[in-house]
Amino acid sequence: MNFEYAAAPESRSVIKIDPVYGHFINGKWVDGSVHFNTINPATEEVLSSISLGSAADVDAAVKAARSAFDKSWSKLSGRERGKYLFRIARIMQERAREFAVLETLDNGKPIRESRDVDVPLSAAHFFYHAGWADKLEYAGVDTTTAPHGVVGQIIPWNFPLLMLAWKIAPALATGNTVVLKPAETTSLTALLFAQVCQQAGLPDGVVNIVTGDGSTGSAIVNHPGIDKIAFTGSTEVGKLIARAVAPTNKSLTLELGGKGANIVFGDAAIDETVEGIVNGIFFNQGHVCCAGSRLILQESVADEVLEKLKRRMDKIRVGDPLDKNTDLGAINSAEQLAKIRELTAAGEAEGAGRWSANCALPTNGFWFAPTIFTGVTQAHRIAREEIFGPVLSVLTFRTPAEAIEKANNTPFGLSAGIWSEKGSNILWATQQLRAGVIWANTFNKFDPASPFGGYKESGWGREGGRHGLSAYLKGSAK
Ligand code: NDP
Repeated sequence: MNFEYAAAPESRSVIKIDPVYGHFINGKWVDGSVHFNTINPATEEVLSSISLGSAADVDAAVKAARSAFDKSWSKLSGRERGKYLFRIARIMQERAREFAVLETLDNGKPIRESRDVDVPLSAAHFFYHAGWADKLEYAGVDTTTAPHGVVGQIIPWNFPLLMLAWKIAPALATGNTVVLKPAETTSLTALLFAQVCQQAGLPDGVVNIVTGDGSTGSAIVNHPGIDKIAFTGSTEVGKLIARAVAPTNKSLTLELGGKGANIVFGDAAIDETVEGIVNGIFFNQGHVCCAGSRLILQESVADEVLEKLKRRMDKIRVGDPLDKNTDLGAINSAEQLAKIRELTAAGEAEGAGRWSANCALPTNGFWFAPTIFTGVTQAHRIAREEIFGPVLSVLTFRTPAEAIEKANNTPFGLSAGIWSEKGSNILWATQQLRAGVIWANTFNKFDPASPFGGYKESGWGREGGRHGLSAYLKGSAK
C-alpha cells in the first residue's frame, strides 16, 4: 500500500540571500572583480552572484591570516580560543534553520538531511573542538610542537557546511588561522558562516573565506605564505595538489574519493540490512565519498535482498528538496548529472543489468532516479570508478575470502560495511578490509570524536577525533 503525502515545504522566509556576495577577508566583505552565478540545482533558479577569487584576493586573505596569526590568535590561550569556538557552535545552533534551508537551496539535498545531519553535526564539530582547545596536552598529541600557522583549506560541494566545520574547527582549536575556499556550486553556507564569525566577535583575519573555482583553489595551494593545505575532493585534484606541494615545506592532508564495499553475509538480518543499504548509497543522493556504492552479497541471500531492496527503493520519495517528506533531492550540478549518466551508460554497455525505481522526476533541475546494477563484475567501470550519485553496483560472493578479495580490489580504501549476526564474522572481516572506516550492521554514521580518512587513493591523514588534531600541529603528523 502506498501512502499519499500532502506537500510539507519548509519556509524560505527564514533566509535572506544577497544578490551579490564578496569574499570575507580580514573580517570585512571585499567584492571581487569577476562574478559567477550560484543556482538551485532543483529548479535552476539563480540564487545569487558570487565573487570569483583571483590570485590577488587569495594573497590578501593569506596576508590577513598571517597577520591575525602573529598578532592575535597565536597569542591567545587555549581557553580563550575555546570560548570563541563555543560561541560559534552556539550561534550555529541558534541559526540552524537558516543554515539548513540555505544548504538545501544551494546544494539540492533534502531538508530532512540538512536539518537533521549536516547542521547539527557541523555545530557538534565546533563544540567538540572547543572542548579540546585548552586540553591539548591530554589529547595524546605532541603539544611541544606549535600550530602550522596559516592553513589553506579547499572543500567540495557534497557537504558544504559540514566539510567547512571539519576543516575550520580543528584548525582554530589548535591555534592556526585559515583561508578557506568553498566549492564553486555551493558557497552560500560558507558565506553565512562568515557572518557567524563576525557575530561571535572572532578577531579579524582568523577565518578568511575566498570564493571561486579551481583556479582560486590552485592559487591557495601554490601561495608561498601557506603552511599547510587540507583538501577534500576528487582523487584527480588531490593528485595535482600532492604534486604541487611535494617540493615545498607545506604539510598536506587529503580526503579523496572512495568506492565503499557494503558486504552482506548470509546470516544478516535482511530487513535491517536493506535499510542500511538504502542509507549507504541513497543518503545525500549518493554524493558521499564513503558511500556503500558496491553491494557485495552472499549468493545464498542475494535474491531475497534484491527483491526487498527494489520494493524499498520504489518507496523512496524523490522531489522538492525543501519538502520535509523528501528522501532524495537533486543532483548538485549539470556536470555531475552528466558524469552519472556517462558511467551508468557504460554499465549498460558493458553488460550489467540496470533497474531504476519507478518515480516521476521533476522537469526542471538535475535529477536521477535511484538505480541498481546487477551482474556487475570487477572489470566493469561501475565497479571501479566513483559514480558519486544514487547508483548501486551489486556483486555476489560464495565464501567470506571471496568477499574480502572483491571488497579490497579497488584503488580506494575509504569505507566499508559488514552485515552479519555473528560477531566473529564481523571481527574477522574488519581485520581483512583495507578501509579507513568500517561500519558493522549500520552505515554512514559520523561523530566528531571518530577519526575519518582513507588508505591508498582515498588520501592520507585523518580528520576528526584526537588524530585529526595532530594534523594541525607541526611535527605531530603530516
Ligand atoms: P574537485 O576535486 O574538482 O573539487 C573539490 C574542490 O577543489 C572544489 O572546491 C574545487 O573547486 C577545488 N579545485 C578544483 N580544481 C582545483 C585545483 N586545480 N587546485 C585546487 N583546488 C581545486 O571535485 P569536483 O567538484 O569537480 O567533483 C568531481 C568528482 O570528484 C565527483 O564526481 C566525485 O566523484 C569526486 N568528489 C569526491 C568528493 C569526496 O568527498 N571524496 C567530494 C566531491 C567530489 P570548484 O568547486 O570551484 O571546482
